Amino acid sequence: MEEEILIKAQDKKNKNEILLYLLNNKGKYVSGEELSEKLNVTRTAIWKHINGFKKLGYEIDSVPRLGYCLKSSPDILYPEEIWKDEELKFLGNKIYYYESIGSTNEKAKILAVNGEPHGTLILSEKQTMGKGRMGRKWESPKNEGIWLSIILRPNLSPEEAPKITLVTAVACAKAIRKQGINCAIKWPNDILYEEKKLAGILTEISAEIDRINHVIVGVGINVNTKKFTGELENIATSLYLIKGEPVDRKKILIDFLKEFEYFYSKLEKGNFHEVLKEWKALNCTIGRNVKIIGKTKEIEGIAFDIDGFGALLIRKNDGSVERILSGDVSLR
Ligand code: ADP
Repeated sequence: MEEEILIKAQDKKNKNEILLYLLNNKGKYVSGEELSEKLNVTRTAIWKHINGFKKLGYEIDSVPRLGYCLKSSPDILYPEEIWKDEELKFLGNKIYYYESIGSTNEKAKILAVNGEPHGTLILSEKQTMGKGRMGRKWESPKNEGIWLSIILRPNLSPEEAPKITLVTAVACAKAIRKQGINCAIKWPNDILYEEKKLAGILTEISAEIDRINHVIVGVGINVNTKKFTGELENIATSLYLIKGEPVDRKKILIDFLKEFEYFYSKLEKGNFHEVLKEWKALNCTIGRNVKIIGKTKEIEGIAFDIDGFGALLIRKNDGSVERILSGDVSLR
């Protein structure tokens, strides 16, 4: 059953300064007086907020005369944890944060149609109907991964939309590699580690003939899943399973968002070749024998390159070349 539990929908401009102050002074005592003076809020308001954060799982000590001390943050992807980072320019200026949702991509589509701005982020701790391509399901258990969607309003023609999947794949692979994990991109939308799926991307586009209305980029990264069962047992993996220890989801999320902004800005400035260069360095598809299962036909051959639009180029056994824009790729 689809359930939807919204924790908050908020703009960066209205972020909770009390929580940010505590986060930036983690481990130190800050007095109610200091908070009240610096942030221009009443002592009662501070006390109320502190109780709210405690309910979310923030461990905060309050000692008379000394004040409040943030000891630890819960393992939740609370928006203030993202807004704490001052480097992000447009991603997450508005965040919809859910405890549970059907699908972040589906929600993002509705929000995009309602006019939510470029860069809006939809984050959920759990998806009950997470989506893969072609109506397939993406398992998104509670607090185990990063399940998000981004609303983009790019100034690109519709045929350039696949470039956004490549930007996302590069950002995702880079963020994961920061953990010392040698993952690779499988064209067009998966991140693999030793042939097992660590993350997936689902790009959906709404466009007129010559103009994109919006693009929704969905990303699912398996972070702390301890065990996959059923059909996923042999095809999926997580950062936890690779590293043998829990991984900080907030760090992966923020690294991903920063990398995404970096490579997206290359695309915006007409420097997509730089994204392609990174993509080629990170991919595990080029040079391999592949089988593409399309809607109407199957193609087999060697994937020898991708072109400037992100399409895969296949040399078939008869020597002819096919340009593939989408489809299921199986590596041989
Ligand atoms: P692909 O890109 O491999 O064609 P999709 O993008 O369609 O895959 O993603 C859906 C498929 O991914 C599912 O059919 C299932 O096999 C697999 N899958 C579902 N959930 C997960 C998960 N959390 N981690 C890894 N693989 C998953």
